[in-house]
Amino acid sequence: MTTNRPIQPKVENSEVEIIWCDACLKDDQRVEAIVYCHDCEKNLCEQCEMIHQFPGYKNHRRTRPKPGL
Ligand SMILES: [Zn+2]
Ligand SMILES: [Zn+2]
Repeated sequence: MTTNRPIQPKVENSEVEIIWCDACLKDDQRVEAIVYCHDCEKNLCEQCEMIHQFPGYKNHRRTRPKPGL
């Protein structure tokens, strides 16, 4: 007898490491980072990411937060 249960796709967020904002961490604040900026070389939260609205920051390359910096 075979049990043909459909294979569930593995959920990959079982152990997601939270990446904190590097700028906030310096002030002893733990804020979850939303982006990593390759030019600032920092993980940044929503608040700190806002500096990128300003000239000089606008062309920074940003990707998803990066663990283990
Ligand atoms: Zn921050
Ligand atoms: Zn930047």
